[in-house]
Amino acid sequence: MKERDVIIIGGSAAGLTAALTARRHYPGKKVLVIRREEQVLVPCGIPYIFGTLKSPEKNVMPDAPYEANNIELLKADVTELDREKKLLQTSAGSFNYERLVVATGSLPIMPPIPGFDSDGVFAIQKDIDELRRLYERLQTAKDVVIIGGGFIGIEFADEIKKMGAANVTIVEMMPHCLSLAYDDEFCIEMEEMLASRGITIKTSARVEQIKGNGRAESVQLADGADIKTDAVILGIGSTANVDLAKKAGLRIGLTGGIAVDQTMLTSDPAIFACGDCAEKSSFFGGRSSGLKLASIAQTEARIAGANLFGITRQNYGTVGVWSTCVGDFALGTAGLTETMAKQHGYDIVNAVVECPNRHPGGMSGMVKTKMKVVFEANSGVILGGQIRGDTATGEMINAVSSCVQKRMTVEDIAVFQIGTHPALTASPVVYPLVNAAEMAISKMRQEG
Ligand SMILES: Cc1cc2nc3c(=O)[nH]c(=O)nc-3n(C[C@H](O)[C@H](O)[C@H](O)COP(=O)(O)OP(=O)(O)OC[C@H]3O[C@@H](n4cnc5c(N)ncnc54)[C@H](O)[C@@H]3O)c2cc1C
Repeated sequence: MKERDVIIIGGSAAGLTAALTARRHYPGKKVLVIRREEQVLVPCGIPYIFGTLKSPEKNVMPDAPYEANNIELLKADVTELDREKKLLQTSAGSFNYERLVVATGSLPIMPPIPGFDSDGVFAIQKDIDELRRLYERLQTAKDVVIIGGGFIGIEFADEIKKMGAANVTIVEMMPHCLSLAYDDEFCIEMEEMLASRGITIKTSARVEQIKGNGRAESVQLADGADIKTDAVILGIGSTANVDLAKKAGLRIGLTGGIAVDQTMLTSDPAIFACGDCAEKSSFFGGRSSGLKLASIAQTEARIAGANLFGITRQNYGTVGVWSTCVGDFALGTAGLTETMAKQHGYDIVNAVVECPNRHPGGMSGMVKTKMKVVFEANSGVILGGQIRGDTATGEMINAVSSCVQKRMTVEDIAVFQIGTHPALTASPVVYPLVNAAEMAISKMRQEG
């Protein structure tokens, strides 16, 4: 029997970040990470294996941070958690812990539709061998169907098209791709961009079955359409991997994640959980949230890792900030869209602005940036923003997220101190976030 002060189960975004945070906050403690895989993939890089990186091996997270930070790494399967004895059974022996962090992540959802277990149907596993098999299959595939038009589905579609597949079709059940995170006008722009790159999109379309004799040959939709296919990719979401936690009797939350409080502590006072396996609550009112992102995982891991032997950090809920892109065409979202804000019951004012991302507009690299910002009508507090622009979108939306997290008002944002440069940003006179706030103020005055 071996003893460690801190054991972390899982070595991906959440597990590694929790370990590094534990090391920084508790330099004297023995920290051990146990993970299943020989090599961990950069999860968000998975779509780019296909058309850009051109190999799963180029998307591997290095193990160097473990040695560099005096963190022990064990590649093994944790098979049992005995909370009474603070004991883990693994495929490489048993270990006692003083504090445990569960960061066991998520698994892809497998829909119960006939034919989903056929050869040629791939759920997106964060597993290098599985991705090698998919990569091989896609080398010769002429027709590919992607089920699910979320960000993973559209990123896969574009990358597979780059590999040379003749026909790539996205099948999405909702009226638009990305509609769980963007208002319709942004979704439509992305659909147009995908179509311009030769990708077929079928929205409001439900898959009835995958046909073929044990090998996927076509995807049949509820309206009777039959789409020929050599490979089917499932991008319909993921579910928290909580088998170990459940068996050990840890409380489970409403969306199926391990229940945690704001300090990331589970129902056991010696066990924290973070990342995709942990239940999330929304920044807006605290309801359960099904969002699972690497960026959320790392925030939660920094909270869990810091709180292991004394609470210093708190989680105020998931804002929901992320971006996606197809080529240089990018979308970013933070907080609530107009649709979501209305569904939550907020009385809102929004402002939409569009301006060149350089000044003067003749500068090289000029494209138009569109931004939509949603404010709560009574308090003027920002609830969220969406951006369509170039590759700067990923960082711009992070600035919007900081305004949301600090609950800044429309007046705070109108005098937000920004930096501008002709070759790098929009003009100070029309800077989108600030300008959107000014427009919202003027709308509020007219309406009030
Ligand atoms: C294709 C794709 C693209 C994505 N793109 C983005 C993006 O652009 N931005 C973004 O923010 N998010 C993105 N995500 C989401 C992101 O990948 C996840 O939120 C992130 O991986 C969660 O990290 P995690 O550490 O919680 O879990 P996981 O990455 O699922 O890792 C779980 C870890 O636990 C280990 N484990 C589980 N059970 C055991 C056990 N019993 N014993 C030992 N080890 C165990 C696993 O081996 C693994 O190391 C993407 C996801 C996918 C699939």
